[in-house]
Amino acid sequence: MFDAERVASFEGLETPFYYYDLSLLRETLQACKNAADPAQFHVHFALKANFNSRVLALIQAYGFGADCVSGGEVQKAVETGFDKKQIVFAGVGKSDVEINYALDQDIFAFNVESIQELEVINELATIKGKTAAVAIRINPNVDAHTHQYITTGLDENKFGINSWDLPQVSETLKNCKNLKFLGIHFHIGSQITDMNVFKSLCVKVNEMQDWFEERGMPVKVLNVGGGLGVDYYHPDENAIADFESYFKIFKDFLNIKPYQEVHFELGRALVAQCSSLISKVLYVKHGIKKNFVIIDAGMTELMRPALYQAYHQIENISRLQLITDNSQLTTRYDVVGPICESSDCFGKEVLLPETKRGDLIALRTAGAYGEVMSSAYNLRPAIRHAYSE
Ligand SMILES: *Cc1c(COP(=O)(O)O)cnc(C)c1O
Repeated sequence: MFDAERVASFEGLETPFYYYDLSLLRETLQACKNAADPAQFHVHFALKANFNSRVLALIQAYGFGADCVSGGEVQKAVETGFDKKQIVFAGVGKSDVEINYALDQDIFAFNVESIQELEVINELATIKGKTAAVAIRINPNVDAHTHQYITTGLDENKFGINSWDLPQVSETLKNCKNLKFLGIHFHIGSQITDMNVFKSLCVKVNEMQDWFEERGMPVKVLNVGGGLGVDYYHPDENAIADFESYFKIFKDFLNIKPYQEVHFELGRALVAQCSSLISKVLYVKHGIKKNFVIIDAGMTELMRPALYQAYHQIENISRLQLITDNSQLTTRYDVVGPICESSDCFGKEVLLPETKRGDLIALRTAGAYGEVMSSAYNLRPAIRHAYSE
């Protein structure tokens, strides 16, 4: 929630910038821990959602593990001080360089996405005289009921190994002397708000762990991935995701054996709400059918709307006294950026108070998949930041 004091603290800062509310981040991390710790659930933070150094340092300090999808992320996790035994590495296209780096770091597990990848990791581990711990990423064919671009667990998706290939997986594992089978991994998509989806996932995980155990391959790790969604429409009312209900689903529906560890890989739910992109109104254009607010942030700073038609709440925080009173939201504007692309639009027909050049606009819930996707397209300057403790 923005108040006059916070907005005043932005005075004189060059826009656009990502504002991070670190106390909200702390509260969110604590809430997640409070819900996960009693069940002894292991939570890894998915670095791809946000690798801002201050954000990462806090998450590391709270004892979370790291979920990486590139060698660069593994390196960033190591440099940030994440325990190497809490680092997992997924991704459909791990290069030899990346695999070698992760082998050198002795990370907890490779989440392996194809049979060929198993063979390559085995080969590279053999050269180093090491044993690589692997979890098999299985494509469970569970529909995440989310945007098609962030659905990852259907047969037609590129991720993971399909269940019909599992006999070949167990064969390969037996032949690969430098691999250690740790368990199974899933990640079915992102921004999942329907808890039934996670129930369906649990059913699949149970089937799959039985499959391996029936073949004499103990499954020590059940890694169910991430995907818990956040409320983009009510960032103040629902600032912290419902971790209790989320973890309870897994407690209730997974068959967890005494020797098993359950791992999670949360990205969005941990960081989305703690940041807003703050931008300044450059121009207000009144057309015949439309009004445009042109701001100094674009898809180069926040790509989600252009990439997957994502919604971000847009607030004119220079007119706080007006936005608390709905009757003062008088005008509909298309809020657009300066980039030379028609998709560079943050919202159409957005109801705002009368907006003027120089007003500050907050694009809320921008902490996940925001800053990390920024680009220099149009030769834009590097991202700027502001923080509050
Ligand atoms: C992106 C990703 C995550 C995190 O997803 P969220 O929706 O941000 O929680 C977890 N695991 C893997 C393998 C991923 O690729």
